[in-house]
Amino acid sequence: MKIVLTGGAGFIGSHLTDKLLAEGHEVIIIDNLLTGSLNNIKQHEGNPKLRFIEHDISDSLDIKEKVDFVLHFASPASPVDYLKHPLETMEVGSLGTFNTLEMALKHKAKYLMASTSEIYGDPAVSPQKEDYWGNVNTIGPRSVYDEAKRFSEALVMAYNRTHHLNTRIVRIFNTYGPRMQKDDGRAVPNFVNQALRGEKLTIFGDGKQTRSFCFVSDLVEGLYKLMLSEEHQPVNLGNPNEFTILELAQKVLKILDSKTPLTFKPLPQDDPKQRRPDISKAKKILDWEPKINLDEGLQKTIAWFKQA
Ligand code: UDP
Repeated sequence: MKIVLTGGAGFIGSHLTDKLLAEGHEVIIIDNLLTGSLNNIKQHEGNPKLRFIEHDISDSLDIKEKVDFVLHFASPASPVDYLKHPLETMEVGSLGTFNTLEMALKHKAKYLMASTSEIYGDPAVSPQKEDYWGNVNTIGPRSVYDEAKRFSEALVMAYNRTHHLNTRIVRIFNTYGPRMQKDDGRAVPNFVNQALRGEKLTIFGDGKQTRSFCFVSDLVEGLYKLMLSEEHQPVNLGNPNEFTILELAQKVLKILDSKTPLTFKPLPQDDPKQRRPDISKAKKILDWEPKINLDEGLQKTIAWFKQA
């Protein structure tokens, strides 16, 4: 297939690019490099099956060649990044989604939109199943990301119903691995790089809030299976093993055999208290579940950050 991938120079997008090329597809990346980097795809330099277009998909773009699949992954995605770029985040999650849907419509291409566990907000139920409608502050600082992704989901379903576009929605839970930006502010790169530099690990709040961390290669396997499926309703992808942030920090310190102390900082506004995917739907319809546990994934991630 010829596949357009917005955000292909980002963390998840670049791993998805690796997978799509390995499966023999042609990939056209559209990325404005706001939070992505050409470094993430430099291993494919000179590969005639990969084309890179530097462009902000919030402005429409006409692709002349026939496209078979459009994947919309472009967006700042770490809380620090979307708080730094609130308007760009809202644009790419509205105009960008609109432009990619129009592209798919014009090419009669299939479509997949990268949504997020953030659409569940600070969830009042756990684990989160796809039929949970969420608990989102519509005007808080995180709303620029949460509401853009909720709007994107609504728009995708409207194109599906109105134009019978062949669409998919994936709700991605916390994902980590090589190629995360050192300074994107997320817990995994922060803790690993703080420990490597011998600095105190910054725990926000009491550290008892939970997240469930999925290694990026597991996620990409699930994304590819969802692409090839005919599931048009949202599907959660993530690792259901839940940890407190304190447990995550302790794991990083143990792997690095570091005695660096923790320092407690204020909890950011609307920081979800718990997050854990119910992946029974993905298990059933995609025959997918993550294989890499947190210790193994952290070791691979730490090894990458050491040489990055
Ligand atoms: N967090 C933390 N210290 C950090 C970075 C993050 O305690 O240096 C916490 C953050 O407050 C949140 C959790 O770790 O409760 C996960 O944050 P992250 O930014 O990785 O992703 P989120 O799931 O909030 O989008």
